[in-house]
Amino acid sequence: MSKVELKGYMEEAERPFNLRTALDEANRCLVCYDAPCSKACPAGTDPARFIRALKFRNVKGGIETIRENNPLGGICAKVCPYDQLCQGACSMTGIDKPIRIGKIQSFLIEQEEAFKMHVVKAPAEKKEGKVACIGAGPASLTCARELAKAGYSVTIFEREQRAGGMASYGIVPSRLPQKVVDHDIQLIADLGVQFVFGHEVKREDLEPFDAVFVGTGLWDAKIPSIEGAGLPGVYSAVDYLKKAGTEKEAFHAGKTVIVVGLGDVAVDCATTAKLLGAEDVRIMYRRTIEEAPADMDELKYALSLGVGITTGFYPVSAKGNGKLEIVEAAGFRDKEAKMTLSADTLVFATGQKAEKLDILDDLPISGKGTIEAQENGFVSGKVFAAGDVVNGGQTVVQAVADAKLTAAEIIAYLEKKGV
Ligand SMILES: Cc1cc2nc3c(=O)[nH]c(=O)nc-3n(C[C@H](O)[C@H](O)[C@H](O)COP(=O)(O)OP(=O)(O)OC[C@H]3O[C@@H](n4cnc5c(N)ncnc54)[C@H](O)[C@@H]3O)c2cc1C
Ligand code: SF4
Repeated sequence: MSKVELKGYMEEAERPFNLRTALDEANRCLVCYDAPCSKACPAGTDPARFIRALKFRNVKGGIETIRENNPLGGICAKVCPYDQLCQGACSMTGIDKPIRIGKIQSFLIEQEEAFKMHVVKAPAEKKEGKVACIGAGPASLTCARELAKAGYSVTIFEREQRAGGMASYGIVPSRLPQKVVDHDIQLIADLGVQFVFGHEVKREDLEPFDAVFVGTGLWDAKIPSIEGAGLPGVYSAVDYLKKAGTEKEAFHAGKTVIVVGLGDVAVDCATTAKLLGAEDVRIMYRRTIEEAPADMDELKYALSLGVGITTGFYPVSAKGNGKLEIVEAAGFRDKEAKMTLSADTLVFATGQKAEKLDILDDLPISGKGTIEAQENGFVSGKVFAAGDVVNGGQTVVQAVADAKLTAAEIIAYLEKKGV
């Protein structure tokens, strides 16, 4: 992979705000009495408040609002589906364009990093209670931050070598630079949260803890059982994106790549393949573009890079002599339609499910392969869970919202236990 290709993959396509452009944008805000943007943020980040602070040039106050409310304010600012959340609710929408809330949030977080600010601190007096979090994705990181802020000792067990979950291993760095993820994580580690990396948790690891939070996400790919699914060159989306993110220069994106599916994950795979040097990248989707769940702006960006789309087809077999060479596809609605395409790489972005976690007894698993938890995250005994592993796979901001709620429940449980 050339240096130019790696640069395109690692660097954000959009320029950030500076103080002048951030102030200009904040000054467009109507300061609505009912703040619909704040009501539309699942995590309670309170954009109306941080935009008002910035309007009055109170940068520190703006940062405090974001950080107090959202431990992953930096990540969310980059990847939230704003149009469906805060920005979608902005009163300026009908008058002019909505306020660019995500970009203002990013600007404030960049100031926090530049001035090395620590607005959230752990209390001087520690509580006795100890909590284990399994997985170091957005859900566990949020839960850990809320518990550390309340004075509890928290240990996060993560089987990979780095924290962040899908924010580090799934979402492409051109949308979410790793330094943004690392900054959010560093502030959580600075509160005294302990990380144990490269560790598959065992039953005995959890015994000393008063409560256990499960935030293991969805890491088992749903790959259709077609002929040739095991051939070299056939990947799950998460494996493909993880290889791209970890192997960097050594990664071979493939020459002719077919990505199956048309959700955000599929678009990320196609963008990654194109940015990392694949010549011909094609998304194959069994329905129509109008029916696809993908974010249309992200899809337009992929198309602008030269990614092609074939709709109405799905793969029925993968063939090749020792490695993938040909993909055969059939019509989804037109049962007679058939096509054969040359490809050396086939990526299935057709969904994820939870992996089996047999270290905890009686973990109730739903038919969809998620953990069945109560709305407040309680599972059973001392076990709580939240994030993708419970909600079936949504967004970072939803994982933050769910884990905040669950952390409050864990605190109530520990207080009742007297630790
Ligand atoms: C390609 C892709 C693009 C996405 N794009 C967006 C986007 O643009 N915007 C958005 O908001 N969301 C996006 N998402 C979704 C978002 O990343 C997830 O909703 C979010 O990361 C869920 O957080 P989580 O903590 O529940 O799970 P995860 O992020 O999956 O984290 C789970 C962690 O648990 C670890 N783990 C699992 N099992 C074990 C075990 N047994 N022991 C120890 N550790 C374990 C995993 O290694 C991982 O680090 C995207 C997801 C993908 C895959
Ligand atoms: S966290 Fe996301 S949804 Fe909430 S205000 Fe920030 S950008 Fe909007």
